[in-house]
Amino acid sequence: MKSYTGLFIDGASRDASAGGRITLYYPATGERSGEVAAAGPGDVDAAVESAHRAWEAGWRDLAPGKRAEILYAIARAIRENLESVAQLDRVNIGKPIADARDEAALGARVFEYYAGAISGFCGQTIPVAKGGFDFTLRQPMGVVAAIVPWNFPFPIACWKVAPALAAGNSVVLKPASLSPLTALELGRLAHAAGLPPGVLQVVPGAGSAVGDALVTHPRVRKISFTGSTEVGARIMQLASGDLKRVSLELGGKSPNIVFADADWESAAEASPMSVFANSGQDCCARSRVFVERSIFEPFVEGFVAATRRLVVGDPAKAETQLGPLVSAAHRASVEEFLEDARARGSSFAHGGARPFPEGFFLEPTVLLGVKNTERCWREEIFGPVVCIVPFDDEAQMIREVNASPYGLSGSIWTNDLRRALRVARLVESGVISINSHSSLHVEAPFGGFKRSGIGRDLGMSAMEGYTETKNVFIAG
Ligand code: NDP
Repeated sequence: MKSYTGLFIDGASRDASAGGRITLYYPATGERSGEVAAAGPGDVDAAVESAHRAWEAGWRDLAPGKRAEILYAIARAIRENLESVAQLDRVNIGKPIADARDEAALGARVFEYYAGAISGFCGQTIPVAKGGFDFTLRQPMGVVAAIVPWNFPFPIACWKVAPALAAGNSVVLKPASLSPLTALELGRLAHAAGLPPGVLQVVPGAGSAVGDALVTHPRVRKISFTGSTEVGARIMQLASGDLKRVSLELGGKSPNIVFADADWESAAEASPMSVFANSGQDCCARSRVFVERSIFEPFVEGFVAATRRLVVGDPAKAETQLGPLVSAAHRASVEEFLEDARARGSSFAHGGARPFPEGFFLEPTVLLGVKNTERCWREEIFGPVVCIVPFDDEAQMIREVNASPYGLSGSIWTNDLRRALRVARLVESGVISINSHSSLHVEAPFGGFKRSGIGRDLGMSAMEGYTETKNVFIAG
């Protein structure tokens, strides 16, 4: 592991112009693990201007087949370097190595998908009333700013960068200050695979300085953001002056609904990882579990037993399922929620404590008896905490599910097909899975209703979001 990495601008690593640096810590031990350059507004300006030049000078007009070749080459480069990419996220944010390997492979898969999508992405011919010939072009926008979080640093960066490049844009990528390493590595690998200098720039740096400079830069045409609802709302406000395009993938408080007619034993076995995976630092975490009352007690018993079997510990070990939280400050914010639950008399069916003296670990925690007015029920915790409640009436349960300001993801467990489809239609969320906890498919749209965001990542929807539609009419 290198102890210092520069910004990635114009195909090369460079220091920040004002000499800023970010210190990184290994969350499993709390020890210092390295440093990266921290961009300032001057570096952002240089990165954006140069990304614009690279776009105008050739990337915009490159034949689609050539663009596809380069994206396939980036995917190959990621696959050839899978282990080193995975180790970077393991050391950077304490991600369990098995997950980090899967996420590196997902990043490669995303580039492959969009390399293939380029040739199938097209406009329409339209039989306009005037006669003549009318058709639409999908044109790239120019410079896209991609601002990404720390929970899934590599795949989220890939699923913004790949479709934006595929559509013919250049990208300035800002990783979270806690997790810059795999974004910088993506810049390096993409350049080595043949991406022209300047088409992908990577500028770590404080959100307040780099983020604002990016969002307000006159050459940036679109901001694609994943992170907190508060920062997403601020970006939307800042972007409104120039009517910049925005897509926002934000927080969640997703439901996991289990009916008595389901194979609920399997649901109880599978459900802990639907909320505790990535130590709960997941916008799709199914953190509110609704269980039909007749099976509530045995379901909770099965859920707690499966939670006890989860392997919490050293992220370097292949068998580890849950690593540490990303930082001491983030663990402290999760513990505040647990204090609130304790003070209000919720019952802890499992967890609630720090399992090890070192590192930023927290046990997966199962709360019962939480009221719908409490913080743990209403707010996104972004840690390994779940609330399980019983329900009697389907309609009342759906009202409670939809009372959340969020609407990102969710699961429904039932063997009644009509009920499954009825509830799936009524739950206000952008993604829903039936008898499964899967939220994400490279080929399908991903994003939220309400305060969970605007716009969609992944699938062809993402390509659409990185283009403008131009209508062309030829008099006939
Ligand atoms: P933030 O929303 O603060 O950070 C996400 C990204 O936005 C980071 O790259 C961050 O940079 C950047 N950013 C911060 N401020 C600005 C700004 N003013 N303008 C532009 N970009 C900015 O999330 P946090 O990391 O602080 O996490 C806080 C909470 O957000 C979590 O507890 C969770 O509830 C939610 N969250 C949701 C995620 C999701 O997947 N939907 C992902 C991450 C967080 P920097 O790191 O330098 O501050």
